[in-house]
Amino acid sequence: MPLYEYIADPPGEGCRICSEGFELRRPVDRAPLEGCPLCGAAVSKLVSSVSSPKLTKPLSVSSAKSAGFTVLEKRDEGTYEKL
Ligand SMILES: [Zn+2]
Repeated sequence: MPLYEYIADPPGEGCRICSEGFELRRPVDRAPLEGCPLCGAAVSKLVSSVSSPKLTKPLSVSSAKSAGFTVLEKRDEGTYEKL
């Protein structure tokens, strides 16, 4: 089930949940949420930030390799093995 983010429209209106935004899992075939489930204030859907890469995320070896980098790891005395 996809995760959607909603926030009160206009932001700052509504209750403590929707005034700062909330996340909700909904079936895809369900009609878009039009109001806060708690207070009923009008809400609008936020563009999900899940799919955008986080720049602060540390680069792992596997993702570096999949990005085309050659990953070298130090073995013993000055020898490097290509992973
Ligand atoms: Zn609300």
